[in-house]
Amino acid sequence: MPIRILPDHIASQIAAGEVIERPASVVKELVENALDAGSAAISIEVRAAGRALISVTDDGGGIPPDELGLAVSRHATSKLARAEDLFRITTLGFRGEALASIGSVSRMAVESRSADNTTGARLVVEGGKLGRQEPVGVPPGTHITVQDLFYNVPARLKFLKTDNTERRHIEALVTRYALAYPHVRWQLVVDGKPSLNTSGNGDRREVLSALYGLEVAKQMLAVDFKEEAYHIHGFISPISLTRSNRREITIFVNGRWVQNSAVTAAVLRAYHTLLMVGRYPIVTLFLDMPPEVVDVNVHPAKAEVRFREGDLVFTRVQRAVRRALLAYSPVPSLQPQPFWGLRQDGQPAAQGREVQLSAEIPMPGPAGETAPPARVQIHTGAEGGDQLPLLRLVGQVAATYLIAEGPDGLYLIDQHAAHERVLFEQLMAQQIEKRVPAQSLLEPVNVVLPPEKARLLEDQLPVLDDLGFEVEPFGPNTFTVRAIPALIVGGDPAAALNVLVEDFEEDESPLQSAVEARITARICKRMAVKGGQILSSAEQAALLRNLEACQSPRTCPHGRPTMIHLSADLLERQFGRRGAR
Ligand code: ADP
Ligand code: MG
Repeated sequence: MPIRILPDHIASQIAAGEVIERPASVVKELVENALDAGSAAISIEVRAAGRALISVTDDGGGIPPDELGLAVSRHATSKLARAEDLFRITTLGFRGEALASIGSVSRMAVESRSADNTTGARLVVEGGKLGRQEPVGVPPGTHITVQDLFYNVPARLKFLKTDNTERRHIEALVTRYALAYPHVRWQLVVDGKPSLNTSGNGDRREVLSALYGLEVAKQMLAVDFKEEAYHIHGFISPISLTRSNRREITIFVNGRWVQNSAVTAAVLRAYHTLLMVGRYPIVTLFLDMPPEVVDVNVHPAKAEVRFREGDLVFTRVQRAVRRALLAYSPVPSLQPQPFWGLRQDGQPAAQGREVQLSAEIPMPGPAGETAPPARVQIHTGAEGGDQLPLLRLVGQVAATYLIAEGPDGLYLIDQHAAHERVLFEQLMAQQIEKRVPAQSLLEPVNVVLPPEKARLLEDQLPVLDDLGFEVEPFGPNTFTVRAIPALIVGGDPAAALNVLVEDFEEDESPLQSAVEARITARICKRMAVKGGQILSSAEQAALLRNLEACQSPRTCPHGRPTMIHLSADLLERQFGRRGAR
């Protein structure tokens, strides 16, 4: 065959094949356009998993009538003027090919009205052929319908999966965009039934509960990490909440949902050793960074990006997640303040999966009556100012918990978790000031390690020094421990050393501070008083005082709660003293 230039309609179909793979790709492109247009409300309707109909309506800036024909042409965009701009993209679209692609593989109708026009215009494109443009009376914004997707590309149709699968792709896409853009009011209707509704009030937790259910949403930990021009934020599951695959790790870069194996790896690294093998966290992370350091023009459907400072991104993501895991965790505290809402029957107050934040959890009242509802408030470390009020020690129960009274009710404290937290903060503070008091052992202890562990330990001797350990190599695979951190005197040095080595083995983090925090948390776990250990009154009082002095007193270094707070108000309501009937 001689070489020839492909006719336009074939070239368009080839181009469309790259961008529009399935119904969800159409939804993605239309939703991205609506977001780029600054919409406050976006409604999506699909029928027959998007094969029969996809319609997207927005209230954004709209398209002026004289640009409508251009909008549906290939390589026509309002978002990119010069080649240099390609390296600082701040919009979701930039190639000007989505509408053209969709129009070439479906029957598409675009109706749009820009704010400064009194009427709108309508243009139909069928299999790439433009119809006549007509004026229409429509509200400001854009309304696009896509019917009979792939009607002229039967081969493509054969590659589609079952309706269920295609529908899931669409729902996953819309819910994730709803999470990323909580200030937009989202509505998704599938085969005539509401599938997702958000209020657009900016509350990501609300969307999170639509996505994962209220129970999961309540438990998620907030990430909020800033360094230079990077802001890494979002939600991660505590170590108690896992999935069997990594599909629930969602990454947004500058507002764009992307797949990125390096970021996913960094997230998993942060959880490393905290999760069982084969378990994965639920994570939604938003990475915001200057547009110049991300190349978004590397994938036909814009589903991947490339970072200019890849190592930096990796380290920062790992640190952000790690920090949230170590320090921030929801503490169940029963307080009469609205935060999360449930209906009276305990179900999310929702039509479809809409969640309202106004309703309440019923608490069983006196004589089986339903008392006025108390509401569960979730404290996250991110709320800051998490310090405890002054507490009066009441005593120890079950040789495991301390009971204390504060100005705002009763505190039930887990002595082990609390002591872990105290040791952790004290040791970390000492490390930061590079003055960890070491205590020499009366008799040095020799510890023999397996060869590969011995090598790991050798590499880390300087770190140990910072931590207050004095350890020297002593013959093959043997080490002499001469001193340990004063704080953990009384613990077994050999056990402590073994804990350290386990840690090095599992953590190749380039980050010294992360290694130290993790090692410290491990040591503290070993060295803290255990449940079932009777403490003298003086020991109880000291533990309480030290806990009061902590910065994050409500969780142990591993993120579990150190205490349960029963507010005075809750107690009064529970006993029917106030507000009943
Ligand atoms: P791109 O988004 O890459 O620019 P598209 O083919 O998706 O390319 O859209 C072409 C142009 O049409 C956009 O640049 C924009 O000016 C206009 N447009 C498309 N959808 C909308 C919308 N929902 N609201 C306002 N303008 C839109
Ligand atoms: Mg676009």
